[in-house]
Amino acid sequence: MSHDGMLQALPKVELHRHLDGSVRIQTIWDIASEAGLDVGARTLEELRRAAVIREPVHDLGQALARFETQRKVLHSFDAISRVTRENVEDAFRDGVRVLELRFAPAFIADGTALSNDQIIGGVLDGMLKGMAEFPVEVGLIGILPRGCPVPVNARALDDLLRWRKGGAPGADRICGLDLAAMEAGIDPLPFVPLVRRARDAGLGITIHSGEDTDAAHVARTLDLFKPTRIGHGIRSWGNTEVMRRLKEEDVLLEVCPTSNWLTSAVPSLAAHPLPGLYRAGVPVSINSDDPNLMGINLVNEYEVCADLYGFTEKDFAAITKAAWEHSFLHRVPGFSGRTPPWLHLQEDLSH
Ligand SMILES: [Zn+2]
Repeated sequence: MSHDGMLQALPKVELHRHLDGSVRIQTIWDIASEAGLDVGARTLEELRRAAVIREPVHDLGQALARFETQRKVLHSFDAISRVTRENVEDAFRDGVRVLELRFAPAFIADGTALSNDQIIGGVLDGMLKGMAEFPVEVGLIGILPRGCPVPVNARALDDLLRWRKGGAPGADRICGLDLAAMEAGIDPLPFVPLVRRARDAGLGITIHSGEDTDAAHVARTLDLFKPTRIGHGIRSWGNTEVMRRLKEEDVLLEVCPTSNWLTSAVPSLAAHPLPGLYRAGVPVSINSDDPNLMGINLVNEYEVCADLYGFTEKDFAAITKAAWEHSFLHRVPGFSGRTPPWLHLQEDLSH
């Protein structure tokens, strides 16, 4: 497909973007300079070389360590608000019209004096500023990192649910819960009651699973957490039973091709299971994960899909429709049922 500007202009639904994993490098530099924070670089160029993952790292654990620089600058209400607003702007420039941004209060708070209230308040402030400037519908997903102590995560969930019901502007856009970070070797059982509580409170559930772990982990995730979406889930590929379940149970995979390559979850972009999963009828969406950390944007991911997997405009239309249908924004009061006109255009293409 020739796609000068065309892929950028396609209206998109992005469901998997970490605001605490996608701080612009310039912003890291600005905030660190202003606040006198040590981010291990003397110049902006040095920071760019150190902070962006451009070549595959050894494994997911090594990639997660790079988040530390990003986390460090999320040190105040104002910094969190700025980064959130910029995430909305960056997504808008990728052609995103419906965006779900996720963040982990326990991760951002780690090593700082920030309260969950300051963090959640800062995210809402930045989200509202972004939405006022750019025509993007934004929903928020709270993340519980599996490596954090369960009581810390339980408190984060309490606080997210309290804000959601509290009536602050934009707080009803907290519409999802996610478990993230390393899956291998972590007992999922302590998270079962937390996820149940989130679901009972009306949040949509998505779980990072089958990113660098096998299809059995995805099956266990489906059994334990009954999510309607899975972060990555790419290791389902080749497991007929798990793929059948994803189709029958209508569980959508939030796929992030370049992220998977850079964390060495797949050997190459060309060998990514996304086209196989899609053509086998597994619901999928296309996402950027941590674009600024990985030196990409969502348009890059669409280019990968067009150039390497042969996705056409029709395929993108079908994928966008599936993402829209699986969006947690439908859980936000007053949002449900408003199908955007550009989705109708895409629906015409998908038939
Ligand atoms: Zn992720």
